[in-house]
Amino acid sequence: MDVDGPSSSAHHEGMTSRDYYADSYAHFGIHEEMLKDSVRTGSYRAAIMNNPHLFEGKTVLDVGCGTGILSMFAAKAGAKHVVGIDMSNIIDQAVKIIEANGFADKITLVKGKLEETELPIQQFDIIISEWMGYFLLYESMLDTVLDARDKYLKPGGLIFPDHATLYLAAIEDQDYKEEKINFWDNVYGFDYSCIKDIALREPLVDTVDLKAVVTDPCVLKHIDLTTAKKEDLTFSSPFQLKATRNDFVHAFLAWFDISFECTHKKVSFSTGPHAKYTHWKQTVFYTPSTITISDGQTITGQLTCAPNARNNRDLDIKIAYHKGDGPETSVDYKMY
Ligand code: SAH
Repeated sequence: MDVDGPSSSAHHEGMTSRDYYADSYAHFGIHEEMLKDSVRTGSYRAAIMNNPHLFEGKTVLDVGCGTGILSMFAAKAGAKHVVGIDMSNIIDQAVKIIEANGFADKITLVKGKLEETELPIQQFDIIISEWMGYFLLYESMLDTVLDARDKYLKPGGLIFPDHATLYLAAIEDQDYKEEKINFWDNVYGFDYSCIKDIALREPLVDTVDLKAVVTDPCVLKHIDLTTAKKEDLTFSSPFQLKATRNDFVHAFLAWFDISFECTHKKVSFSTGPHAKYTHWKQTVFYTPSTITISDGQTITGQLTCAPNARNNRDLDIKIAYHKGDGPETSVDYKMY
């Protein structure tokens, strides 16, 4: 995203590059990426617009409305009234978009942080939100959605989406590991291996070919948004990955699925390597050494995930694993 371009302050109501840095959702570029992610936006559209029987005459809260796209889907699906809230300056554009599309009487937009802002309606029938981050939980605003649920959702109200599932598998990734990690062993003949240790601990967000996956996937964590608590977002899950062929393992791979279980014909999408591209891609965790694995053998382990104590938008992820009854390796990763 080019926020330093000469046009930024001239065309966006006096915002400077420093303002865009502080307010990462203010620039249209990030919304362009999300709107153009047709798996993401199309799934929300299908979940909302194919279920007018759920929206007809209902009050809807759009948590983190951005440009207002989900609010407009809800209004089109027959909602009586929609309130969209966002703390980013992008909401100034949303106001114009809502107006330009004739929804000014159906959609009320509120600028502010959900946790600190008074809403014009106290109880809603439905909450809609697109809160997911990389590795599902990185920089995610799920905390905010759970707050919104506890404060504003009527008993028995619906949440779109209402389920999220995080998965883990192991991959063969020799070439890319060479380029991203082992590169630091020899940089123009110099030993840069101190950076290799840092690079390894930083999960990589990238697309991975399905052919690289060498084990069955394993569910790490299931989140039911109707019942989840904030404490559930700090977790430690055991995993068992069974190899589907003889190969070498260079990394673990994580992705998530999202579903709208409350819809009549269930809508869901996956961000996995078997599914169509999304801007979330997948998340790669390189292992310090290569694991040789035979068809049917398992890698057993435990993944622990917690918000960082000093900055709760960062994630501390520990993966401890061993093959068969071999020795255990444990790696502390950090997403920031
Ligand atoms: N719903 C839009 C935008 C999703 S991005 C769409 O689907 O295209 C998430 C949005 O949530 C961002 O615009 C961000 O500014 C907003 N947001 C994040 N945390 C928030 C909070 N605590 N209160 C209000 N808005 C928040």
